[in-house]
Amino acid sequence: VAQRGPPESPERMLYLARRVIRDGSPWGYIRIGMPLSAVDTGFNHIYGKIMSLVVIVGLAAAAMSFLVAWQINRPIQDLIRAADRIAAGNLTRWFGTSSSIREFETLAQALRSMADQLVDRLRNETRQRNELEAIFASMVEAVIVVDTAECILRFNQAAATLFHAEQTGLSGKSILQVARNTQLHQFIRKILARNMPREEDIVLFNKEERYLRATGTAIEEGDGRIIGALIVLHDMTRLQKLERIRRDFVANVSHELKTPITAIKGFVETLLEGAVDDRETAVRFLDISLKHTNQLHAVIEDLLSLSRIEQETGQGGIALQTGKVSDVIASALSVCRVRAEAHRVALIVQCPDDLVVDMHRTLLQQALVNLIDNALKYGDDDSQVVITAETRDIRVVIHVRDRGPGIAQEHLDRLFERFYRVDKSRSRELGGSGLGLAIVKHIVQAHRGTVSVVSRQGEGSVFTISLPATGSADVSGYSTKTLDAI
Ligand code: ADP
Repeated sequence: VAQRGPPESPERMLYLARRVIRDGSPWGYIRIGMPLSAVDTGFNHIYGKIMSLVVIVGLAAAAMSFLVAWQINRPIQDLIRAADRIAAGNLTRWFGTSSSIREFETLAQALRSMADQLVDRLRNETRQRNELEAIFASMVEAVIVVDTAECILRFNQAAATLFHAEQTGLSGKSILQVARNTQLHQFIRKILARNMPREEDIVLFNKEERYLRATGTAIEEGDGRIIGALIVLHDMTRLQKLERIRRDFVANVSHELKTPITAIKGFVETLLEGAVDDRETAVRFLDISLKHTNQLHAVIEDLLSLSRIEQETGQGGIALQTGKVSDVIASALSVCRVRAEAHRVALIVQCPDDLVVDMHRTLLQQALVNLIDNALKYGDDDSQVVITAETRDIRVVIHVRDRGPGIAQEHLDRLFERFYRVDKSRSRELGGSGLGLAIVKHIVQAHRGTVSVVSRQGEGSVFTISLPATGSADVSGYSTKTLDAI
């Protein structure tokens, strides 16, 4: 018990008292006391030791925890950095921890395999996207993708060309604003509304009329919700044109054949009905029938010529050989000389003897015969037809010039079409098939050249064949120019 000591010594004392028992009954008490300061000194000594121990242990614990924290934090930081790199798209395969803790190594391994899978997936997706882009860009068909608000999401180059639009900057624009075609707009609306593949013919009136076959389908989300429409436009203009040409051609051929056949049939029937007995009438009818038969023959011959040239040109082109232009002109003149004499027309040739060109001799001769024959048929009697040939730059040009009535400007553009005639009855009268110039055009094209006509009424016409000079290439075709251009 700590108590204050006696008044003479007020120091705080520590007392210990114990009862003494003798023979089973309390005998007295032993009480000892000592000043508390002595005890305090002992305790203080012990406290000091404990405190220094606590400080040492505390410091050691702090050092240990710092070491452990450092050991754990470093791999965690490594992994955080790796995760950040993955998130930023840097998927280089190597990353890991220098930690010896197995769990961290397992985690790093998991990250590595995740990065590997991501790399594979990204590579696949990039490849697929590039393939799609390449297909999309190289498609001849126009491809348009719009969202439900009819705004453009994708628009390939073919579509941009078709609608005369710049491909860049179209995203987000309204399809109506870009295509300016209500038929197409309605078509897209139907697709977005009904969600089924559709097909429709659309006519575009931009700079020129274009016939399109539109195919469309709705694009759906996973839950079946429509999120847009894909439209593919096939340009059918060329096919449509070819179909029209074919129809016209069949109609023209039928007409060309029908006219003489009907006439021949009529005369033969009349002859059979008795006219044959009147010799004079019979001879006249037979004469007319012969004329129509010749006409039929001319048409069929020319049709066969045309188809032969077309076939040969289609099968990789005709074989050309270098030959003298003057020789071909001479052969053509020998064919036309009889008609020239009959019309008292002088045939004048101006051609350097050494002028050569790559040619199919028979075909080029036929083209020249057709032009000279026309000049004789439609030109004036008692005049002249001049055939000149010369080199102009990298071309050899042959002109056939007549002094005839000429051809009105409005006919010039269509003159080389099959069966196109300025004066139908005169052409038939002269035994023309209406195919002469079409044949010339095809022959010249087969020579990779061009044929053109310049004419003014009352002044005559100049037909010009222009062929690539030996060793050079040229674009084939035909054209018309004004007389002053020559
Ligand atoms: P055709 O058998 O009728 O002569 P072409 O194709 O040779 O057929 O000529 C087409 C038309 O062009 C002719 O019907 C004629 O009206 C016109 N034509 C061709 N050459 C001349 C020419 N030199 N002068 C005037 N008209 C011509």
